[in-house]
Amino acid sequence: MEKLKLAIQKSGRLSDASKSLLKECGISFQNGKNKLLAPAVNFPMEILYLRDDDIPEYVENGTADIGILGNNVVLETQRKVDIPQKLGFSKCKLSLAIPKTGNYTDISWFQSKKIATSYPEILSSYLKKHNVESEIHKISGSVEIAPSIGLADGVCDIVSSGSTLFSNGLKEVEIVMRSEAVLIANKNINASKKALLQKFIFRIEAVNRSKNSKYIILNSPNEKIAEISALLPGMRSPTVVPLAQTGWSAIHSVVNEQKFWEVIDQLKEKGAEGILVVPIEKMIL
Ligand code: ATP
Ligand code: ZN
Repeated sequence: MEKLKLAIQKSGRLSDASKSLLKECGISFQNGKNKLLAPAVNFPMEILYLRDDDIPEYVENGTADIGILGNNVVLETQRKVDIPQKLGFSKCKLSLAIPKTGNYTDISWFQSKKIATSYPEILSSYLKKHNVESEIHKISGSVEIAPSIGLADGVCDIVSSGSTLFSNGLKEVEIVMRSEAVLIANKNINASKKALLQKFIFRIEAVNRSKNSKYIILNSPNEKIAEISALLPGMRSPTVVPLAQTGWSAIHSVVNEQKFWEVIDQLKEKGAEGILVVPIEKMIL
């Protein structure tokens, strides 16, 4: 039987989250400690452990069928691959930063300045779009120290909380792009692999949907069931079960976590009691 070859990062910021996603999708496999390739045991898939920068090339040329990596790297490598699914983890920004003491006005600050980055392609197209000409220095690691050692006037680097920038005496001044982990796919995979990919995406969607949703159980006086149910629409409609105590029922529903916090006061006002909020593992519509 044909197997879908998935490339994930061998070690780094994406590898744990990529492996967790597979496990949550019910796919078991061996760890890539001393191996490049590991077969999944209960899904027709093989896992290739690679450096993230190499994944787009391998997926483009078909060595791997699909891959998981940051959208920033997909864009930077300019390989021709499809992006069938965003994954929602490893969210970060690619930003321009300058020394804290710098007097920043707007993007024209970078005119004729030196910028250190690991993302020369993304940066140069961003600068071109804003009609700014800078000197781009490509360095592959520790970009943030470049200004303090006199190698550059500013940097274009990955930012999440900003604490790395801050501790290197820098401040963020422009967001060049927002990134998150994505699933990429070879443009020419055959029909049977495409069917496997659809199956995999179906599972990813079920897992990701469940992360934003909660199962909610509460007790309601019978005369308030209609009003309380209206606040908790659920997947189709809430389940209502009578309690042993007459005049009371339990209402079960599924709600978006954000929505739950918005309606909690109204639920209590209408007499809801004993409210339980429980995580959901998978959610199929
Ligand atoms: P490799 O050795 O595989 O080349 P790397 O050093 O290039 O790894 P990592 O630092 O592991 O890459 O980062 C991988 C990806 O994780 C980045 O391309 C980016 O999409 C995302 N990422 C990087 N830093 C952060 C962060 N601070 N917060 C969230 N996501 C991040
Ligand atoms: Zn890398």
